[in-house]
Parts: sequence; C-alpha cells; structure tokens
Amino acid sequence: MLTLDAHVKFFPFPTQMLSVLLFLIGLAAGILVNRAADNLPYERSLLAAPCCAHCGTPRAKLQNSGSLSFILRRDRCAQCSAPLSLRAPIVEIGTAALFAWLALRYPIGVYLGVVCFFSAVLILIAVIDLEHKLILNVVSLPMTALAFLTSPILLGGPGTTIESLALKPYWLAFLGIVTGYLVTLGIYYLGVLFLRIVNRGRAKKINTVAFGMGDVKLAGLLGALVGFPAIVYVLVYAILLGGVGAILFIAFRAATRRPYSAFTAIPYGPYLILAGAAFLYFGPELLARALGA
Ligand SMILES: [Zn+2]
Repeated sequence: MLTLDAHVKFFPFPTQMLSVLLFLIGLAAGILVNRAADNLPYERSLLAAPCCAHCGTPRAKLQNSGSLSFILRRDRCAQCSAPLSLRAPIVEIGTAALFAWLALRYPIGVYLGVVCFFSAVLILIAVIDLEHKLILNVVSLPMTALAFLTSPILLGGPGTTIESLALKPYWLAFLGIVTGYLVTLGIYYLGVLFLRIVNRGRAKKINTVAFGMGDVKLAGLLGALVGFPAIVYVLVYAILLGGVGAILFIAFRAATRRPYSAFTAIPYGPYLILAGAAFLYFGPELLARALGA
C-alpha cells in the first residue's frame, strides 16, 4: 500500500523543522496573496508588478514583501511618501503562521500541501471581500473545480492512500457544491422576497440582502472543500457567526454614537470562510460532535 503521507520517507527531520520550512513557504504564499488581492479586483493580470495605490509609481524591489518593508522601515512610497497598507504584513505573517501550524498538525504529504494551498485561496477571498465587498468569479469558480478534482485527498484526510482514491469523495464533493449553492440561493431569494414586502410604499428603497451571488459561489467552493454533510454545518455556523458579528457591530455603533441604520450590508464572505476553515481543519472532530457520535 502506497501512502501519500509517508512522513519519514520524504522528510527525515523533526516536525519543528518542517514547521519552520512551512512558515517560510507561507511568507512567500502571503506575498502572492497580496499581489493577487492588489491586482484581481482591478482586472490586472494575477501577478502584475506592485505599484503605489496613490501615485502609481512602481514599488521598490524590497517592498514586494510587506513584512520586510515594515521591519526595515521602508513602508512609504519613494515618490509620494504615501504609507503602504498594513494589510500586506498582516497577510504575510498570518499565512506563514497558519502554514506553520498546519505543518505541526498534519504529516508531510500531499494532504498538507493541498490544505495549505486552499487556505491561501480562502485568505485571498477574505481579503478581497473585506476590501471591496466582492467575491470574484475568477477565483471562486476555478477553485471550486480544483477542490472537486482534489476531493479524494481533501475528504480522504491526511492518511489518503492511492487505493482510497475512489469515486465516493467525488459524490460527496458534488453534493457539497449543490447543497452550498441551493441553500444560499434559497436564502438569497427569501431575502429578495422580504425586501419586496418591506419596500412596498417606501420612498427610499432598501436593496441589501443576506447573501449576494458572490457568497453563493463561495458556499459552492466550501461545499467542494468540506463535502456533504459538513457543508450544512458550515452554513449554519456562518449564519450564527454573522448574527454575532451583526450584534457586535450594532453595539459598536451604539457605543461610538454613530447613527445606526437598519439593513446596513454586512459581508457574509468572511463568516463563511471562518466556518469553512473550521471544518477544513477540524472537520472529523466537529462532525462527530454535531452528529452526537
Ligand atoms: Zn506613491
């Protein structure tokens, strides 16, 4: 039996060393995520060279890495001295720390690689959603296809063997995608119906609904990543987290005495991603608890 995660065979060093290695790979992945988050919303090519967001001057070589430019205090544009966004170092360090933690959690192998890759994808989607309130089809749709194709690894777990690459994971991933789409679409149309009723006779129409079409496609991607039935719990947890987030948001608004208007749009993407990541990393444990097994 050929195991894809033969730890000792491929990496005869202590796990801590693997963790340091994955931290460095995570830093590099964070730089790529920042690049993609800078370029994709403006329809520039994925890895186009970074420019100052204010004056368009190409950034210095060293400023490719957000954390390096902050550590070396080169965190301003050489031309117009506009500050670099804090997002770059946060994403780099965050991705690196996440990869290092995953290396401690899973043995070296294909599963670890695939989970790291999709973690970076989810970080990218969260960053773009937080900054632009957008979930781009160019990210979510191809990644759904890729998650479906790799479902034997993802749903098989870290001990995936060549023999276990059977048809069943494809069915679970397919069911996951369909469930993700249908449930969020259902909620979306319920929202549209609700707005029609509320907006009747209102001079100032409200046009925010719980899930946008971007969230629907994200739910499909998460369905492919965690499979069925985990996607059902991901959606429930995302809605609960969104509710908690909304209450905190309203409390914050009240505390800072800013006027609160009902129906302020709250992006669901980050909550979906938090819940999806929880099931990606702790799926078997969480599912066992949810099903009372
Ligand atoms: Zn500038």
